[in-house]
Amino acid sequence: MAETSIEWTDATWNPVAGCLIITPGCTNCYAMRMAARLEAMGVPKYAGLTRKSGNRYIWTGKVRLDEASLETPLKWRKPRKIFVNSMSDLFHDDVPAEFIARVWDVMQRTPQHTYQILTKRPERMREVITSLDLPALEHVWLGTSVENAAVLSRLDDLRSTPAIIRFVSFEPLIGSVATADLRGIHWAIVGGESGPRSRPMDEKWVDEIRLNCLATGTAFFFKQWGGKNKKATGRTYLNRTWDELPRVQ
Ligand code: SF4
Repeated sequence: MAETSIEWTDATWNPVAGCLIITPGCTNCYAMRMAARLEAMGVPKYAGLTRKSGNRYIWTGKVRLDEASLETPLKWRKPRKIFVNSMSDLFHDDVPAEFIARVWDVMQRTPQHTYQILTKRPERMREVITSLDLPALEHVWLGTSVENAAVLSRLDDLRSTPAIIRFVSFEPLIGSVATADLRGIHWAIVGGESGPRSRPMDEKWVDEIRLNCLATGTAFFFKQWGGKNKKATGRTYLNRTWDELPRVQ
């Protein structure tokens, strides 16, 4: 199992690798940096997925379907929260719908786990799920990332997708999302960007989301402040940690 330090999950599962930057939230994509590192270490799964641009590496746009890891969760007996595709976006245009259906099949056969699917392409997620008539499952949570107000329409795409649990990740939060409509969204994760080029998160933006969550009964999870040294800035907000999880309603 791929253990992870991501605060809101237990493990990662990557049946797909590789992606393409689409909005400002992707600029400092952690997966992109990690893929370049893994390629340099000689891991074939990540070969050719990134290229050098100036003094950093960026995605080439190529995605790789990893047949070898497709059935990995079937071998995991112990229940886990599993972040699906931490190193890609399952709904990237080049991931065939048939492959997504196979991912669904594995999830359906392993109800002991809880799957967390996070995409910046919720429009395609809705389209694929509805056209293939993939079932809404209690243990498969569907989410989208929203980094600022310019991409708030992703919440509408998510809301109109059949799901039992819907969530939003406001990370990296790089602008106010005070007008976010959280109706029908069961869980909100909030986090500042971390790493050497991180952009700051204003505490006021976090306050706006927390109050919004209170109004809609959305569970609130505060992941981190971020910054160059995320350990130093920590994850305390209003003198406490916030680790709420969604409930089936
Ligand atoms: S969609 Fe996700 S994985 Fe793809 S570039 Fe953006 S942040 Fe990275």
